[in-house]
Amino acid sequence: MASKTPPKQRQNVYEIAQAQLQRAADVIRLEDRLHMILSQPKNELIINFPVRMDDGNYRLFKGYRIQHNDIMGPYKGGIRFHPEVHLDEVKALAAWMTWKCAVMEIPFGGAKGGVKFDPRSTSPAELERITRRFTHALGDNIGPNYDIPAPDMGTNAQTMVWMMDTYMNRGPSRDKNAQRAVVTGKSITSGGSQGREKATGQGVVYAIEEWATENDFSLDGATFSVQGFGNVGSHAAAILSRMGASMIAVQDHTGALVNREGIHPKRLARHVAETGGVAGYKGAEPVDKATFFGTEVDIFIPAALESQITADTAPLMRCKLVVEGANGPTDLEGEAILQDKGVQILPDVLANAGGVTVSYFEWLQNRRAESWTLEEVDARLHAMMVRAYRTVRRVAREHGIDNRTAAYVHSLQRIQEVYRERGIFP
Ligand code: NAD
Repeated sequence: MASKTPPKQRQNVYEIAQAQLQRAADVIRLEDRLHMILSQPKNELIINFPVRMDDGNYRLFKGYRIQHNDIMGPYKGGIRFHPEVHLDEVKALAAWMTWKCAVMEIPFGGAKGGVKFDPRSTSPAELERITRRFTHALGDNIGPNYDIPAPDMGTNAQTMVWMMDTYMNRGPSRDKNAQRAVVTGKSITSGGSQGREKATGQGVVYAIEEWATENDFSLDGATFSVQGFGNVGSHAAAILSRMGASMIAVQDHTGALVNREGIHPKRLARHVAETGGVAGYKGAEPVDKATFFGTEVDIFIPAALESQITADTAPLMRCKLVVEGANGPTDLEGEAILQDKGVQILPDVLANAGGVTVSYFEWLQNRRAESWTLEEVDARLHAMMVRAYRTVRRVAREHGIDNRTAAYVHSLQRIQEVYRERGIFP
């Protein structure tokens, strides 16, 4: 009997993050002591907390907050609710936030958090209790001047408003409103910013526009695929479509679809809101994972989980550009395969930085009691994305390196300069 090939062991995501750091450290000959410091987070908080479920029973949840580095400013990074959340994943995501904020020249450090459970299988009331209990347990480990969470996979503006409200109610009433900036990504009514909800997708598109200009490529008539049709994927798709590009293929946790004539992002978003996923949408053909990855497009936008573009899927891909809306979607083998094929990559720490950039704007507005218009937010985001894109491309050309390593090089040089000036206490 023919023996089945065992499924490939997935590369550990934290090891991938370490290898990426090593590559850039070699280029700039990063000081050893700094490499040592940056290779581990400053603080790793793991909290097991009980929550009463709707049936009256109690369930124990595991939550994480990993604070990677705060030399450039307060810790900043999202909170993920997902059944596969684990320590090494949150550590990698926290480190990526440090590099991302430094690439964007935003005065924040890097952090990430998460709770290991499936938010789709809990009721809204349970979701609220889990969020509030986790926030309570985080206590003084977050704060508007210290560590500022935001939405990520499985969390949204409502989650952030519950976090803000819980945090505010811990202290005296007279201080309440000064605490609004403890989280970003809030609803506009509760202190959020115009443009924050679409910010990551918008930033993805600003990065694509810069790439198109640099490569003399027209987005009008271009084709693209999106993996993950949540906050990032759906907004990126809607904005790109308005520019004349067509979404040909899409995949989420419920299935994959292809339509060479184009899939309407707004109609698909309505279907997802009603049914919970892309499966069953009538405007496209259901396909398997391999067909989704193998569909020929100009631009491929991963906007779901880590390690999706791998030695298994990268050989199937036929595109000119991969724009990493997700964090860590490409593993080391997947990246090498894409590079061999001549596919260009706009790395996560640049491409999806629109979210943290508008989070920074929200934080500023909260602290200054200001309210910026959508046009103002978009114009500032555009300027910052363009500056970061051009810097990364310049560094890539100067050193003859890929865009990801160039983004890391720019971050590390800025961080190294601050460590040199400040020294290491005592
Ligand atoms: P979301 O929860 O809104 O959407 C996640 C999407 O991924 C959903 O469509 C879901 O069906 C899909 N998905 C989940 N598991 C999948 C699987 N196994 N295969 C295919 N699809 C799957 O999350 P989001 O906020 O859009 O985040 C998506 C990615 O973007 C994450 O990597 C996140 O870290 C990153 N990101 C998000 C933001 C932000 O502002 N929300 C900012 C920067 C980066």
